[in-house]
Amino acid sequence: MKITKQTPKKEIIRLADNCRKCGHCCSYGGCYVLEDEAENISSALSIEKQEFAEKYLEEIDFLNKKVYKTKIISKDLPFGKCIFLDEKRCMVQNVKPLHCRIGTCSEHGQATLEWFFLNHILDLDDPESIRQWAVRLENTDTIPGGRLHELVPDKKRLNNILNYEIVKKERDWDEVIGLKVIKENG
Ligand code: SF4
Ligand code: SF4
Repeated sequence: MKITKQTPKKEIIRLADNCRKCGHCCSYGGCYVLEDEAENISSALSIEKQEFAEKYLEEIDFLNKKVYKTKIISKDLPFGKCIFLDEKRCMVQNVKPLHCRIGTCSEHGQATLEWFFLNHILDLDDPESIRQWAVRLENTDTIPGGRLHELVPDKKRLNNILNYEIVKKERDWDEVIGLKVIKENG
């Protein structure tokens, strides 16, 4: 089956459901934790979300968005094991984040990870997010639905975004703010 940006989440989870839980990939990095997942995991650990975030998460910037990843334990950053890996076992297995459930080493792993970035990180309302995705695509292939002309079918708008003629978040898709105008207004 060809995975696309539009593939339903249920199907993505089904396709990725062959993890043997060996802990190998968890030894080389943490995972993305979405807002509602932070809620779930902190409840499962019986701690407040704030404490959970301080103890277990780090904030990073990806595709112009503040996102959370589990901390890693390492002497040689940026590589190291996920803070939730205990020997070969995930300590939050029952509530582990979607990223861990679908970013597997299976034949679909790369495609499901792309699906995750496209549907949970990339912000199509943020031109800078799209520009950073465009830079990423210079060296990485993506799944159908994730190419620039598919994400922004309006050629003029895409061109404006890539040429930095749309430079900030818009409330309205038709609102075009030129760099020149912004500079003139200070
Ligand atoms: S949360 Fe669990 S499954 Fe996800 S990377 Fe950490 S140890 Fe692995
Ligand atoms: S995704 Fe692969 S490497 Fe990672 S725990 Fe599952 S089987 Fe092991």
